[in-house]
Amino acid sequence: MHEIIQEIIERHMVRRTNSQKSAFIEYLSNALSSEGIQASIEQSQWPLCRNIVIGDPVKAKYIVTAHYDTPVRSLIPNFVAPVSGLYFGILLFALAGAAYAGMDLKYSGSLAYRLAVYGAVAVSMLQFIFGKPNEPNYNDNTSGVACVLETLLMLEKSHRSQYCFVLFDLEEAWLFGSRRFAGKHSKSPGEILINIDCVSDGDHIMLFPSKGALRADEWEKAKANFATDDWRKTIIAREKGIKLFSSDNISFKNSVAIGAFRKSPVWGYYISRIHTKKDIIFDERNIAIISNAIACMCLPEAKANDVS
Ligand SMILES: [Zn+2]
Repeated sequence: MHEIIQEIIERHMVRRTNSQKSAFIEYLSNALSSEGIQASIEQSQWPLCRNIVIGDPVKAKYIVTAHYDTPVRSLIPNFVAPVSGLYFGILLFALAGAAYAGMDLKYSGSLAYRLAVYGAVAVSMLQFIFGKPNEPNYNDNTSGVACVLETLLMLEKSHRSQYCFVLFDLEEAWLFGSRRFAGKHSKSPGEILINIDCVSDGDHIMLFPSKGALRADEWEKAKANFATDDWRKTIIAREKGIKLFSSDNISFKNSVAIGAFRKSPVWGYYISRIHTKKDIIFDERNIAIISNAIACMCLPEAKANDVS
């Protein structure tokens, strides 16, 4: 892995406060500049949001993105099982329960009941805003940042103009960064947008194309470029069925989200350690597979053709 990424892991792993983000942006801009690469910062206010853009979002064919902001440590571990019917059912049940509690509160809630519900909502909001940053955040989302930078730094100079790389701010705050980027540029930037989030903990790398991405020629090429034979990792292109993987990809119409998952008999594919102190797994093989595949997108011939 490139030394710039090593340095980010050693010195800029936590990117939560404005000053932590400023230090990261300053380091990265200078480090890239010494490689002959210019990064620009798209800044907006309320809340302060700084997206780091490398390349031209209008002219580029491939937009490659990841969020760089660090989540807070959760009170409840963040569990994601994007293709599980059971997980989908539990989420629906929880949503229905919340809706019922809301109605109940409106029409028949006692004062104590109302205070308990409002208190719980207030505590979770305060925790979300002022909570402790999740210091080890190898998977969410230093792994995505590493993939973006590794791809950028492995490209031949003559191929770089086909790509625009974006590191989004404020994904953890309702996707502010990517929504602002979509508002400023386009909801379908480039021919395809590849968003990378949580890819370093799990042997199953999954691609989730949006409807718009499925219609793009570039999708077939992207699929073909991910080889399955490296280090016995599996690659799954999830074109149909349940796809509950919501990161900055949902701000765009032509996105492909990429995540890595463990597998269990109950949940199928899942992520369970993010937003906790156990977010310490950083499988560099996943970073290499994903970066190589994306860097080969600009070549005339697909690298491999081995996707289930
Ligand atoms: Zn994330």
